[in-house]
Amino acid sequence: MAAFSATISESSRFLSSTSLPHDAAAPKRKISASPFPSQCRSFSLPKPFPLSRLGVVSQWGRGKSLNICVQASVAVETSMDKVHLPKGNMWAVHKFGGTCVGTSQRIKNVADIIVSDDSERKLVVVSAMSKVTDMMYDLINKAQSRDDSYISALDAVLEKHQSTALDLLDGDDLATFLSQLHHDISNLKAMLRAIYIAGHVTESFSDFVVGHGELWSAQMLSYIVRKNELDCKWMDTREVLIVNPTSSNQVDPDFLESERRLEKWFSQNPSKVIIATGFIASTPQNIPTTLKRDGSDFSAAIMGALFRARRVTIWTDVDGVYSADPRKVSEAVILRTLSYQEAWEMSYFGANVLHPRTIIPVMRYDIPIVIRNIFNISSPGTTICHPATEDEDGQRLESPVKGFATIDNLALVNVEGTGMAGVPGTASAIFGAVKDVGANVIMISQASSEHSVCFAVPEKEVKAVAEALQSRFRQALDAGRLSQVAVIPNCSILATVGQKMASTPGVSATLFNALAKANINVRAIAQGCSEYNITVVVKREDCIRALRAVHSRFYLSRTTIAMGIIGPGLIGGTLLDQLRDQAAVLKEEFNIDLRVMGITGSRTMLLSEVGIDLSRWRELLKQKGQVADLEKFTQHVHGNHFIPNTVLVDCTADSNVASCYHDWLRKGIHVITPNKKANSGPLDKYLKLRALQRQSYTHYFYEATVGAGLPIISTLRGLLETGDRILRIEGIFSGTLSYIFNNFTGTRPFSEVVAEAKQAGYTEPDPRDDLSGTDVARKVIILARESGLKLELSDIPVQSLVPEPLRATASAEDFMEQLPQFDKDLARERQEAEESGEVLRYVGVVDAVNQEGVVELRRYSKDHPFAQLSGSDNIIAFTTTRYKEQPLIVRGPGAGAQVTAGGIFSDILRLASYLGAPS
Ligand code: ADP
Ligand code: ASP
Ligand code: MG
Repeated sequence: MAAFSATISESSRFLSSTSLPHDAAAPKRKISASPFPSQCRSFSLPKPFPLSRLGVVSQWGRGKSLNICVQASVAVETSMDKVHLPKGNMWAVHKFGGTCVGTSQRIKNVADIIVSDDSERKLVVVSAMSKVTDMMYDLINKAQSRDDSYISALDAVLEKHQSTALDLLDGDDLATFLSQLHHDISNLKAMLRAIYIAGHVTESFSDFVVGHGELWSAQMLSYIVRKNELDCKWMDTREVLIVNPTSSNQVDPDFLESERRLEKWFSQNPSKVIIATGFIASTPQNIPTTLKRDGSDFSAAIMGALFRARRVTIWTDVDGVYSADPRKVSEAVILRTLSYQEAWEMSYFGANVLHPRTIIPVMRYDIPIVIRNIFNISSPGTTICHPATEDEDGQRLESPVKGFATIDNLALVNVEGTGMAGVPGTASAIFGAVKDVGANVIMISQASSEHSVCFAVPEKEVKAVAEALQSRFRQALDAGRLSQVAVIPNCSILATVGQKMASTPGVSATLFNALAKANINVRAIAQGCSEYNITVVVKREDCIRALRAVHSRFYLSRTTIAMGIIGPGLIGGTLLDQLRDQAAVLKEEFNIDLRVMGITGSRTMLLSEVGIDLSRWRELLKQKGQVADLEKFTQHVHGNHFIPNTVLVDCTADSNVASCYHDWLRKGIHVITPNKKANSGPLDKYLKLRALQRQSYTHYFYEATVGAGLPIISTLRGLLETGDRILRIEGIFSGTLSYIFNNFTGTRPFSEVVAEAKQAGYTEPDPRDDLSGTDVARKVIILARESGLKLELSDIPVQSLVPEPLRATASAEDFMEQLPQFDKDLARERQEAEESGEVLRYVGVVDAVNQEGVVELRRYSKDHPFAQLSGSDNIIAFTTTRYKEQPLIVRGPGAGAQVTAGGIFSDILRLASYLGAPS
């Protein structure tokens, strides 16, 4: 017990020696003689601290155990020497955030900025060195959970400030500061020990401890500024700022009392430069408190109002207020001006560059706030002011939407039931119950049918809220007047802010369109009638994507698409080269920003966080490739955190890859492919895929599956969508077979033409893959299904050009060697055709009237368009009710890497335009 009493007596010294607040509320109180320096003031220990439990009553005398006043001498004022506080434009207020005073070098830098400001008078509000407030809260948590390591953690706090002071100060300044610091630390140690023993801490004790960071930073800064021979004093704002605690972890400033105390403080400390502590204040009973986390901005705003300052400059580590949190949206832009309301809405909804309560005090006196970057002084920052003083020219060009902000860790509560409509007092009963559990309602939405009321509360409060509602409405729920009190966890709020939204129609349409296109489901919506803000609630996992999607819709007119390329072989490789050559033009001229975030082959994949440098993709894939994993690949390309749209481009011919499309589309990933496997595979899977794609805003394009880059699918769709009816589609769909029959003119046997085609690279490595007709049958199936026919691949009779005995032959070489033995059959057929003025053509046919298809060798008269082909061209004839006499014909090269890649590329651009790219 003896040891413990000693500890507490140490803390009593601390209580009186750390520049304690005036007892201004009781000016007539008798001032006792005191051993402490004249700067010391009276201070009341936070009431709820259970000192009697700790056995210190005898130390302080029984009557004072719960409210100990240590009173020090206060300079007695006479009306003669009273200095009046000048107020108004001569004052400039600066606030320096934690990062601005994070190191000794930075503190010096801050001092330079203060000194170089040529304002007549300056009030500087300073935060604790960065991380220090977190360290202080950590001390409290450790001590109250009886974790001894608070002692070493306190040593780290001491060490940080001691080494900073050693860097910055010398002589008497250093000695005075260090003695004060050691003193404070030993008192804190005693206090933390008491908390450790009690295993409990009250809010006011905690506030008292955590505010030390500001006391130390302000004192250090004031010594340095004073070195520049400025008339400078430091202010412990607990002596001046008086605030009333509220029930919702906030405090309300008492402006009148604070003003009175400020007048008094100034009369005793008249000076042109004042370095004041941010964050800390006192209650009207002189109990130290804080303005709560990040509260130094609020301190600066209150000071600005008390001094009627010309301006409040908030120095931080970013160039100003961005259109969205720059850590989440790399393309966010700096907003040059914001109205007070806009700034308030942005900060309320999570833009933590400014404490939300900063606005009200300055708005009252029309004092502008400027947010500036201490690390980039040349940037003008963001000015928050009344809209009338906005820079007109700058503003007119700006979007009606200024910025976006998000709040995570919310839950929605939905109170629903038919018995709510027309019943006065339901909303009051709901929110009364919520208030009773002390929960903070962040947004409310009620449908005009009054059928349901939905609101968002912090996730950690939702359990208590739901229980309170269940119990408050037990009777209504039992009687069925209310159907449910439902909780939807894991939600986030996305707020869109802009004062000009009020006068601009269509903003919300654009907003919701952008969300729909990014495949984001909106769970609840709220728009106040001030129209400064539209708030939507989305799933937490969608929040960043939603933020990026809406931000890019309003701010980056360009459409940004994250791409994953699967299969960098001949076609995929050519596509990547085409993208490389065209990307800059697309970005410059069409605002389309295509970023290849990943390339995967069957063995190796290359992933990038920002976009692969396509001029080196082959080399990078070799050097930096990792083991291919399609799932990981998909997750990477889709999960990247700054691009709202994702497309996977499947350039393989693999049915395993094709079987992933359904899952990708379901996840909101667009799919583009020349791979025929999905669309010509089992009918039920195909139908499911198309149904899913039609229901969602996800796109699935596959133009290059038929006729490479030729506009075949799009032509067919155009006909169908405009109400034409397909009667028949007939065409030469294989570039290889087109080449072979165009050159099979009787001068050479069939096998020689095939060998020549193989030589020229027109065939697959094994020409049987072309001659079997399966590839053509897949194209026929794709077109048939596109025309609405429900056919399976096995429903299409296919005439194979591979002679029966050669179908099982082992190698392609053996096949080529033996093929000449069968030349005579085709030679005879060709001869017969020629004798009737006809040619042989290998075609695919979709007969929509009879709901069937076929792939076979047919004869066409020499003047038929199919007979006029050359090289490896494809030709497709659409016979429809509109194009009945003369079919609509599409003709051109239908094979080869360049045109196939070109077809895929145009699907990518089609996607960009569907997503909103300008045409
Ligand atoms: P300080 O310690 O200076 O008070 P804060 O960390 O409290 O600094 O606030 C600045 C930070 O706010 C920035 O570093 C930035 O990451 C974050 N921030 C969030 N939203 C925005 C926004 N819309 N504009 C600017 N900064 C933002
Ligand atoms: N230092 C306090 C905090 O970190 C106040 C502030 O910096 O605004 O919360
Ligand atoms: Mg801050």
